[in-house]
Amino acid sequence: MKICLLLIAAGLLICQTVQGGKTFSFEGYRLYRADPFTKEAAAVLRSLHDAYPSEPEPGLGLTFFNYPSHRNVKVDILVPPRLVSAFRKAVAGRPDIQLELLHRNYGRVAAQADRENRQFPRLMKRLRRAVRRSDQLILNHNQYLRYDQLLEAVNTLAQQCNLLRSNTCRQQEIGSAYEGRKLIVLRIEKSQTDKQKRKVWIDGGIHAREWISPATVLYMADVLISKGLNRRMWTPEVVALLDYYDFLMLPLYNPDGYEYSHSHYRFWRKNRQTNGGHPSQSRVCRGVDLNRNYGYKWGGSGSSSDPCQDNYRGTGPFSAMESAAVKRFVEQENSDKKILLFLSYHSYGQYVLMPFGFKRGAYPRPALSAGKMSCVAFFGSREMFATNHRFYIHGTSADVLYEASGGSDDWAHGSLEVPYSLTVELPDDGAYGFLLPPAYIRNVGSEAVRGLLAMLRTIHDLETNTNFYRTRCLAHTAASDY
Ligand SMILES: [Zn+2]
Repeated sequence: MKICLLLIAAGLLICQTVQGGKTFSFEGYRLYRADPFTKEAAAVLRSLHDAYPSEPEPGLGLTFFNYPSHRNVKVDILVPPRLVSAFRKAVAGRPDIQLELLHRNYGRVAAQADRENRQFPRLMKRLRRAVRRSDQLILNHNQYLRYDQLLEAVNTLAQQCNLLRSNTCRQQEIGSAYEGRKLIVLRIEKSQTDKQKRKVWIDGGIHAREWISPATVLYMADVLISKGLNRRMWTPEVVALLDYYDFLMLPLYNPDGYEYSHSHYRFWRKNRQTNGGHPSQSRVCRGVDLNRNYGYKWGGSGSSSDPCQDNYRGTGPFSAMESAAVKRFVEQENSDKKILLFLSYHSYGQYVLMPFGFKRGAYPRPALSAGKMSCVAFFGSREMFATNHRFYIHGTSADVLYEASGGSDDWAHGSLEVPYSLTVELPDDGAYGFLLPPAYIRNVGSEAVRGLLAMLRTIHDLETNTNFYRTRCLAHTAASDY
């Protein structure tokens, strides 16, 4: 931790001379946190969300970092200077909304984050002699990579993997995004002749602005390869993991949106396809929220039919090229019901979420299935907390966060019947939010790896030990609530 702080502090000193990028500046933008205590207050926030979408000109409207679906769901909202008085008029002074000004000028925060991402790798190189790294992974994990760099990183991982153990890793192009960028799955399969092995699906970067997510999935792949295959670094638990499971990892689900969030608008969320104009207005807006575009209970609460909204669900289930490609691939991989765990990594907020997200009070059935998933979420959260003392809340998205229909985890369990389907909202809890400095990548990555190990250990216990559920899950978790 001290090292990270030292690096950040030193980075700030050096960064002074570097020019900011050509990205959107956010100068004078304010970041508010609104906590609505009543249903009416949440409705006021929703009406602001709908009235001032961040498109067709990103950044001119309000940018909601999460969706105000219910009372007591805190919402971070980025407000441009021209809308500050209108926003405050609607919200400030209401007794049922607690309003907190987190940043008076978000431009400074964004510029600092941009500088850190540029400077951190060079800084790491200079300090590497002084800082003895505790582990020797294949990649550096010290920067949020661009699309090209990320594909190169996946390629490096695959090559190193096969040098350590031949025919173990494979890159598979499963389709392309709207603007033509590739969707690459990294397959880690230790023994391809073992037909009994179950599969684990892991995706990251479905939402463009959540940069820590692809970085974390890449980190996890590196640990699986480095500590599972390199004899000098063998970690028995990771070695065993590769014996039991095959991994299908898609680090960057939404490459078009991700690139746009680097080159133009930092808080872009959707993909980049063009949509028709809003029926009632002559606006042309871009992008589908890929995590509202899945086919299970598509079109319900927490998704919008307005193409200008951040949570636009698309014209129909799997109408986006990216989600259609993932659907095809995952369905094919699961044709023999071999996928045991489906994991999606997002940020931020620190949650481990299970189905169903489409409606409050909707749970997998039979209740035992929900209880088991809750148990896996609990042990995963507990292990991640033990790693860095960051607390994760677990439950269904609709219960503990907000209702969101058309999500990937609902589909994996509801439509494909994957037994364990979870969404992890990575750190932080809002202090940096989406602008989490690159110095955190290794820190968050190691937390995610330990969480993954705990989840798979729990699943293994649940599948092999009939007493485990009764003695460990019911006793220690909210599993009995379902
Ligand atoms: Zn997300």
